[in-house]
Amino acid sequence: MSNPSLLILAGDGIGPEVMTEVKKVIHWYGDKRDMAFDVSEDLVGGAAYDKHGTPLHDGTMAKAQEVDAVLLGAVGGPAYDNLDFSVKPERGLLRLRKEMDLFANLRPAQCFDALADFSSLKKDIVAGLDIMIVRELTSGVYFGEPRGIHLEDNMRVGINTQRYTEAEIERGARAAFELAMKRDKRLCSMEKANVMESGILWRDVVTEVHADYPEVELSHMYADNGAMQLVRAPKQFDVIYTDNLFGDILSDCAAMLTGSLGMLPSASLGFPMANGRPKAMYEPVHGSAPDITGQGKANPIACILSFAMALRYSFDQGAEADRLEAAVEKVLADGLRTADLIGEEGVAPISTTEMGDAIVAALDASL
Ligand code: NAD
Repeated sequence: MSNPSLLILAGDGIGPEVMTEVKKVIHWYGDKRDMAFDVSEDLVGGAAYDKHGTPLHDGTMAKAQEVDAVLLGAVGGPAYDNLDFSVKPERGLLRLRKEMDLFANLRPAQCFDALADFSSLKKDIVAGLDIMIVRELTSGVYFGEPRGIHLEDNMRVGINTQRYTEAEIERGARAAFELAMKRDKRLCSMEKANVMESGILWRDVVTEVHADYPEVELSHMYADNGAMQLVRAPKQFDVIYTDNLFGDILSDCAAMLTGSLGMLPSASLGFPMANGRPKAMYEPVHGSAPDITGQGKANPIACILSFAMALRYSFDQGAEADRLEAAVEKVLADGLRTADLIGEEGVAPISTTEMGDAIVAALDASL
């Protein structure tokens, strides 16, 4: 049987720096766990624009459709800020999500004990936090028609449309229930059924899908209350399923419960391919961080944890994903910190490379 395939798109700014550390981890799995991957690399974002005049070459898009999983670093940077909207680096990312039909965006918010003091919330509220937000990613108000700005009686009017079909709600709901089955079997669906018809449909469809997952405890919450509960008592949640707009906001809110942007992974999943694996792209939540690019300051953990998500959700290697997360936890517990994780205590920071090497050493120690 051939090895599973990975396409690495490191992108711009700190993307290539953090991806270099992920490649060490990928090689470790090949060398030490007999889990070799067929890895190919290509350009995305500004790097692709510089070479091809487009943020995602058609050939790269075709490769992304064929591989078992895509690992993406970050795109964008000041050099590309004034480009036409159609060729901005972010368009490359959006094209990947859209053409691969990645409708379920998984954003874990997990608080490592060693970093509990780093959260903006009190330690006892976030210590041990482990929640997963599933955001519907390819429909809703960011895509609905009609949209635009036009004149009505000499007054400019801005329009966006929240539109969901039951199929769009259902496929994301199934992804969320499946995840809940692998976790604590609790799912909270968030919408605004009190004021939005799309919210009423959302609640109905999620309730219907629940019939196929009777072991999961389902609850419903208005999204504004959900935002309050996330900062009041986040540990009450296991999996949250919500729409594109609410998910955008709630997942950023949940993310900051855990401290630094440099720690946050994500996965975007689509329909299963012929081999049963879902179409998938894994990427850190952070951007290209032009302010620290080339200085060895970037935290590679978000990108490394994104690879851990690939192990779990694309390659069915949950135990190996646990091993990698435990290696990250150990390094942090040992007091190693990149600059973004340094609080007031004034510990000397280690570099991107040193953090990657320490995680590989912790993987070695786990054998
Ligand atoms: P950013 O996430 O790049 O940076 C925000 C702040 O967090 C910066 O101070 C940065 O130094 C810090 N930071 C981010 N990642 C870090 C890491 N791994 N280690 C240490 N510190 C880290 O967001 P921004 O500054 O708003 O955007 C910069 C560029 O990135 C823009 O061009 C933006 O469009 C792009 N962007 C891309 C993505 C993506 O590729 N998914 C996401 C967000 C922003």
